[in-house]
Amino acid sequence: MFDPVCLKHDTGDHPESAQRLIGLMEHLKGSGLLAEMCPLPPEAATLRDLARVHSPAMIDRVRNLAESGGGYIDLDTVVSADSYEAAARAAGGTISATRAVLTGAVTMAFVFVRPPGHHATRERSMGFCLFNNVAVAAAWALEQGGVSRVAIVDYDVHHGNGTQDIVGGDARVLYISTHQYPYYPGTGHWRETGVGEGEGTCINVPLPPNTGDKGFAQIYERIVVPALERFGPELILISSGFDGHWADPLAWMLLSVEGYRRVASLLQYAAQRLCAGRAVFVLEGGYHLQALAHSVAGTVSELLGRPYQDPLGPAREPEVDVQGIIRRVARFHRLDE
Ligand SMILES: [Zn+2]
Repeated sequence: MFDPVCLKHDTGDHPESAQRLIGLMEHLKGSGLLAEMCPLPPEAATLRDLARVHSPAMIDRVRNLAESGGGYIDLDTVVSADSYEAAARAAGGTISATRAVLTGAVTMAFVFVRPPGHHATRERSMGFCLFNNVAVAAAWALEQGGVSRVAIVDYDVHHGNGTQDIVGGDARVLYISTHQYPYYPGTGHWRETGVGEGEGTCINVPLPPNTGDKGFAQIYERIVVPALERFGPELILISSGFDGHWADPLAWMLLSVEGYRRVASLLQYAAQRLCAGRAVFVLEGGYHLQALAHSVAGTVSELLGRPYQDPLGPAREPEVDVQGIIRRVARFHRLDE
């Protein structure tokens, strides 16, 4: 699912630029991967779709700012004249892909849209994100898509504070995040487990800088996949950010394209076993243009069962050991029993 309207979200000189999407789509085309995928129809999220997860004031703020020609929501988060339309398409495209997976039109989908979404809370756009694309799709799936249990797995290097804010009180949604910590936006401690009826349905795996491929594979094998198995989702949405790549300028993790392929493979395996393969990968961050394009292509080729030649290779620094945090989180959520 690619929507060219998303390119109209004009951030100027900013790491989250249209060039990210242009570059990765060109690379998918050039590598022959795009031809192996089935294009899905773009759509705009309606006001009703957005209002399932955002307050009317928050939606109005983005729309009014865009209508007045644009401006800043905060130091990081820009709105241009066409940003409301682009953000509504980013959220709507995520719904379109979710619908296609739930109706069986496709088994799995990858959503190539921007602005990203996982920092947008119920009340506030922030951190490059205007509307929370994944949360909008989860709410749509629960109300219109005929499912009653949705899992969201977030491997963007930043914690998805917005997603946690929106779904943290909802027992129908499992949210699992692996992220650098402490780091922007400051949330995502392992003690944050959801609130009220959603208590226990947020699993946070805060990670030190220099966590790499091996650490991520262990975390997905020992925490993420067992948590998915216990929850039993009917749909898995994946906040798929690639800013954990070793070359990324915005964080200090050591994932390589191979590491992202391994994570994708474990998620695909879990989706096949638990929910007939129904998984939707949704682009979040990733700010090194080449690393982003190769990480996306590596992930897509893994899902298609193809090999991938990664010219960037593995990180040159040694990765840290994350056995301690794995044990702590597994014990805390009783995933080690
Ligand atoms: Zn990020």
